Amino acid sequence: MVALTDGADRSPFSGVRGPPSTNGNNKYHYKNQYLEQPRPVRIIVIGAGLSGIAAVKIFKERFAGEPVELVIYEKNNDVAGTWLENRYPACSCDVPAHAYTFSWEGNPLWSRAYVGAVELFEYFKGRAVAYGVDEFVRLQHRVVGCDWDDQQGKWFVKVEDLSSNTTFVESAEVVINACGFLNFSNWKWPNIAGLRSFEGHLAHSARWDESYSFKDKRVAIIGSGSSAIQIVPQIQPEFAAELAPEGREQSFSESQKQEWAQNPELFLQYRKKVDSTMNRFFDLQYKDADLQKGSVQSTREIMKQRLAKKPHLVQNLVPNFSLGCRRITPGHGYLEALSADNVEVCTDEILNIVKDGIETMDGRKFPSTRSSAPLASTPHSVRFFRSSVRLDEIFEMIGPVSRAVT
Ligand SMILES: Cc1cc2nc3c(=O)[nH]c(=O)nc-3n(C[C@H](O)[C@H](O)[C@H](O)COP(=O)(O)OP(=O)(O)OC[C@H]3O[C@@H](n4cnc5c(N)ncnc54)[C@H](O)[C@@H]3O)c2cc1C
Repeated sequence: MVALTDGADRSPFSGVRGPPSTNGNNKYHYKNQYLEQPRPVRIIVIGAGLSGIAAVKIFKERFAGEPVELVIYEKNNDVAGTWLENRYPACSCDVPAHAYTFSWEGNPLWSRAYVGAVELFEYFKGRAVAYGVDEFVRLQHRVVGCDWDDQQGKWFVKVEDLSSNTTFVESAEVVINACGFLNFSNWKWPNIAGLRSFEGHLAHSARWDESYSFKDKRVAIIGSGSSAIQIVPQIQPEFAAELAPEGREQSFSESQKQEWAQNPELFLQYRKKVDSTMNRFFDLQYKDADLQKGSVQSTREIMKQRLAKKPHLVQNLVPNFSLGCRRITPGHGYLEALSADNVEVCTDEILNIVKDGIETMDGRKFPSTRSSAPLASTPHSVRFFRSSVRLDEIFEMIGPVSRAVT
């Protein structure tokens, strides 16, 4: 038995109910609580995106009646993270919407197979209202640092109140990082020389100006990731109506939506079908799986067909690596847009941006007045400290697995 005089609660009998011992010199102190009585715990969640919204539902179910407190700090003035912030043309989920809901419930009312940002926002905002997120979230509060104190066994979380421009520190036993690994809160312009000297309209996929019209403009899009794949087919016809990308336009009829809404069992079967169809593609992740081999071949063929108008692009655009090494995204209309007459694909590195265009390493210049450059964006970085050690740096060095903070 370890008996301590500092009042600390480390004895195996520390949970025994009863008054402090009076055995002579008041050597023993017991807490007035029963064995394994839950101690009060405070949880801070950073971010009220999809994960933060889900946290509230789970919190309410798991900790009802327990001495557990939850607060969510969210830097934006509303919830739903990704789908509040991203509004570039054709921004949408790139997995089927019926597989993009919380697992415990679906949304029978999705309008189409791949829904857009506004519809996604409205849906997840609706879930936040339904779960009572309001009660827990502090909007316009940005977490700027988390410091783990070994002695006290607590996180000290530094929060900036964006509405009053003040900063305060709160402690919590548990911090959940729900900042979103693709959250563009700290999106950055790419580090390209001369970017600021550009005199045309400069746009960024993570901060889209919806009032700007691309009609009749010469547009340079830098990057070819998931966002560009959605943006290009959308804006390309705007300045040359020659090509109308068909898009993944599968819509659900009113009667279909109503049937799902009124028949939860039928709807669940449909959701399971969508999920298991997606899960069947898991083998794609295995390099030598038959599915991988077959799909690589067929995907290359499809890509070549879509690039048929400009076969020289095949060399640059059709990957020679396995499927799954980069994000697989529907990209409907993307290759067709790149093959259109009014589009030039440049695969050389950018040397410089000047006031009226872009200069590439191979000495070419892409001139442009009034042009616009939507750019690839970079992720956020919240800094976590453990006794003055940067946890994000440690994670970067050794990977997130072996150094859990408890
Ligand atoms: C354009 C786009 C399309 C996507 N499409 C898909 C898809 O089809 N399928 C898929 O599975 N995933 C997709 N994703 C990934 C998407 O991010 C996740 O599906 C999902 O949104 C992650 O939810 P989250 O709650 O973890 O993060 P988010 O939705 O990003 O929410 C994070 C929240 O944390 C807040 N936050 C961040 N930093 C701080 C801070 N320091 N202090 C306080 N608050 C902070 C943000 O404001 C935000 O509200 C897409 C992402 C983007 C950007």
